[in-house]
Amino acid sequence: DRHPEPQFEPDPSKKTLVILGTGWGSVALLKKLDTENYNVVVVSPRNYFLFTPLLPSCTTGTIEHRSIMEPVRAILRHKKAAVKFYEAEASSIDPDRKVIKVVDNSEIKGATSETEIPYDMLVIGVGAENATFGIPGVRENSCFLKEIGDAQQIRKKIMDCVETAAFKGQTPEEVDRLMHMVVVGGGPTGVEFAGELQDFFEEDIKKLVPEISPHFKVTLIEALPNVLPSFSKQLIDYTENTFREEKIDIKTKTMVKRVTDKTVEAEISRPDGGKERVEIPYGLLVWATGNAVRPIVKDLISRIPAQKDSRRGLAVNEYLVVQGTRDIWAIGDCAVAGYAPTAQVASQEGNFLGRLFNNMAKTENHEARIQELSSKMNLQGGNSAEAAREIESLEKQLRRMKDIKPFRYSHQGSLAYIGSEKAVADVSWWNGNLATGGSLTYLFWRSAYLSMCFSTRNRVLVILDWLKSKAFGRDVSRE
Ligand code: FAD
Ligand code: NAD
Repeated sequence: DRHPEPQFEPDPSKKTLVILGTGWGSVALLKKLDTENYNVVVVSPRNYFLFTPLLPSCTTGTIEHRSIMEPVRAILRHKKAAVKFYEAEASSIDPDRKVIKVVDNSEIKGATSETEIPYDMLVIGVGAENATFGIPGVRENSCFLKEIGDAQQIRKKIMDCVETAAFKGQTPEEVDRLMHMVVVGGGPTGVEFAGELQDFFEEDIKKLVPEISPHFKVTLIEALPNVLPSFSKQLIDYTENTFREEKIDIKTKTMVKRVTDKTVEAEISRPDGGKERVEIPYGLLVWATGNAVRPIVKDLISRIPAQKDSRRGLAVNEYLVVQGTRDIWAIGDCAVAGYAPTAQVASQEGNFLGRLFNNMAKTENHEARIQELSSKMNLQGGNSAEAAREIESLEKQLRRMKDIKPFRYSHQGSLAYIGSEKAVADVSWWNGNLATGGSLTYLFWRSAYLSMCFSTRNRVLVILDWLKSKAFGRDVSRE
């Protein structure tokens, strides 16, 4: 059904709903939303949705990056009424004038690259940026793992380190440094990446470049006493033991304080309470220490007095309305609703808003119809039994529609891949909790993520990538 995208023509009788972002939250909202009720405008610097759970697999080529991207225009094509998409970054929000400023920051620019968009309703789903805690040298020297470009950069750098280490006459110390892959942050991002990296080495690099293999080492640095703080104790132990078997070195209670182009300086808390400063040489450094608030969100927080205590994002009420505003909602990693910043939360919040907005539009239509019928009845002296019956039925439906329950998150469980075809899972299982780890969990992990992929196209591509890397090995060409 390759029919052209319907044309967008703003209808002055409808409210303009502006949605920022094309991530987990915003796309879940778009999927649910009956777009014919509003003039819908989507603004995002990224013209695709990214299935982040499989992003760590793109750093080594187990999965090719395009397999986990879904163009937003393909998503919007399936909506009943046209939606306008602008590939741009919202740079500021003015809640008094109800306009947003947008900038086209892409490489190619036309005569206009900055403009304003007015809104009646605004949904902010801009996610978060990478936390560095102002630690010197992090931005300049490390790779993050959040966007497609990050995964591509890591993939290139791993191979650059390998090829440089294999260069004629390279000194042994330099080979050790180049082959040392350091991951900072023992949350799920750091753990999954370390696992993927070790797999890549064991399954491919070792065979293709055997001379450097004794020097290859992955180190995972975590400030807290253990990795995966959000998982159960049993799975933390399982992960740490598996890493030990895989020869991934875990350094817990180790806080990175400074980064240079070739070393990481960290402070280790010793069991006796003392502190020790160490310098760790590295070839590749991946920084995965969680989320920080985006500038556009910080700017909006500073404009709303009720948000003066917000530090981690926009405080929202139980209907996801930004506190201190009437027509702005926030979802996902940029919103503080009392839940963890995960895809699961963001998509449930987006879905909730979709239902809420559909309901609001229906309510307004019902109210308008009641108004119309009542004035007709007034003109006729109130003697239309049919109109009275319709009003009564509409009012009954209205009461039910207005009784919208607040947002409630339903946790389906946590899953993480830990390398060597093993995964860990904390899942809700008939009213109870199940914590499992191992190869069966890995199959569960694979099928769960496959089922969550955005489209059948994505699902097929991911399966083909898995088969391809198993059958032929990962592609080690450095693009
Ligand atoms: P995002 O999905 O980050 O989307 C934000 C969107 O806003 C993007 O389209 C971005 O381009 C756009 N944007 C940014 N700035 C602007 C601006 N100024 N104006 C307009 N648009 C803007 N969670 C899980 O539950 N399970 C997992 O397995 C999992 N795995 C993960 C693996 C990795 C490697 C990472 C990094 C995260 C993972 N997460 C996982 C967390 C999950 O990806 C996030 O919680 C989720 O993406 C949050 O959704 P969001 O819609 O708030 O933001
Ligand atoms: P995170 O916040 O979960 O973990 C970051 C870790 O870095 C923390 O454990 C912290 O103690 C450590 N850290 C911070 N500063 C440090 C320093 N200077 N030196 C050493 N360690 C330091 O971050 P994440 O792993 O990127 O995850 C972000 C969010 O995305 C979380 O909500 C997570 O649940 C979600 N996520 C989920 C999955 C999954 O379910 N499989 C995968 C990736 C991300």
